[in-house]
Amino acid sequence: MLAPYAATDKASRGRRYPEAAPANRSEYQRDRDRIIHSAAFRRLEYKTQVFINHEGDLFRTRLTHSIEVAQIARSIARALGLNEDLTEAIALAHDLGHTPFGHSGQDALNECLRDYGGFEHNLQSLRVVDVLEERYAEFPGLNLTFETREGILKHCSLKNARELGELGKRFLEKTQPGLEAQLVNIADEIAYNNHDVDDGLRSGLLTLEQLKPIALFAGQYDEVVRRYPDIPPRRTIYETIRRMINQVVTDLIENSWRRIAQSGIKDIEDVRRHPEPLIAYTPEVAEKSRELKRFLRQNLYAHERVTRMMGEAVKIVRELFEAFMREPGLLPSQYQDKLRQQNGAGERARIIADYIAGMTDRYAMREHERLFPGT
Ligand code: MG
Repeated sequence: MLAPYAATDKASRGRRYPEAAPANRSEYQRDRDRIIHSAAFRRLEYKTQVFINHEGDLFRTRLTHSIEVAQIARSIARALGLNEDLTEAIALAHDLGHTPFGHSGQDALNECLRDYGGFEHNLQSLRVVDVLEERYAEFPGLNLTFETREGILKHCSLKNARELGELGKRFLEKTQPGLEAQLVNIADEIAYNNHDVDDGLRSGLLTLEQLKPIALFAGQYDEVVRRYPDIPPRRTIYETIRRMINQVVTDLIENSWRRIAQSGIKDIEDVRRHPEPLIAYTPEVAEKSRELKRFLRQNLYAHERVTRMMGEAVKIVRELFEAFMREPGLLPSQYQDKLRQQNGAGERARIIADYIAGMTDRYAMREHERLFPGT
C-alpha cells in the first residue's frame, strides 16, 4: 500500500545499464539484495563506527550501525506509505564507502588526496556501487536504480556534482531527493545519536551526570526512574534509549505527515521539485536533536581516549598512502593491473585511495605492520 508520492518501479528513472525487470522481486528489492551480496557490505563488520573494532564486542560497528539505520528507516517508511525496499537498500548502502577508522580515516585520506580532488565518503559509497564492486558479467558495479544511487549520495561538492551528470543535478539546481532518501538521512542520525549514547555510557567515556542536562535524554530518563525505580542501572539506560528513539521517530512521522499533506505534492517528481525537504522533525525536536549531537561531538567524539586512538589511525592511513604512491609494487596484483592502465599521478592516487578506503580496520593495521614492522 504505497502512497502516491512513494518511489515505485514504474516511476523509476532506471538503471545505467538497462536490464529486464526481475521476475519475482521489485527493482528495489533487487538493489537491496545486490548490496547484501557485495564485498563492501561484508567489510562493514570490521570498520569502526566510533570505537575501534577490537575494543569490545558490544560496540557498534559500521555493519550493526547500518542495520539499525535500516530498521529505523523501514519503520518510518511503512508508517508514511513509502517504499520500504528502496528505503532499506539506501540504508544498507549508505556507509559502504567509509574508510577504516571512522571519520579520522576519512579525514586522513582526504588530506592525502588534497592535490588529486580529495576524498568524500559519500561519493566513495557511490563509487563502490557504480564501479568498484566487480561481480556481474554484463556491467561494472552493482548497476543499481537511480533512486538508490540518489539516496546514497547525500552530499556532494559542486565540483563533483558537475561531473556526475543526472545524479549530480540536484546539488546544482538545489532540488530534493525522493522521500525515501530524505528519511534515511534522518534515520542515520537517529541511529547514531542513540547508539552512541549507549556505547558512550558502556565504555565509561560518558557518564549519567553529563547526560542528565540533555533534554532528549532527561525527558525519558526521569520518567523511567520514576516509573521503575528498582530496575538495574543498565536496564534503566536501555529503557531510556528505547524511549528516546520512539519519541523522535514518532515526532518525525507525525510532522512529516503534516508537511506532506500541506505541500500538495502528488508524486515523486513533485517531491523533487518541492523547495525544501518534507521529511522533518518539529522545530522543538529538531533543536533537542541538535543539542544531543553537539553534546556527543564535544564529549564523546572529541574525548581524549577516542582522539588518541584516532591519531594512530591517521598515521596508519597516511603512511600506507605514501608508501603505495612511492612504491606501487607493494600493492596487491589486481591493483597493480589497474595502475598499468593509468598514467597520471592523480589516477594512481585514486586507485590507491580505493584500496585503502576498502580496508577494514584490522586489515589496515596488518598492512601497516607488514610495511612498517615494529613502528
Ligand atoms: Mg551512517
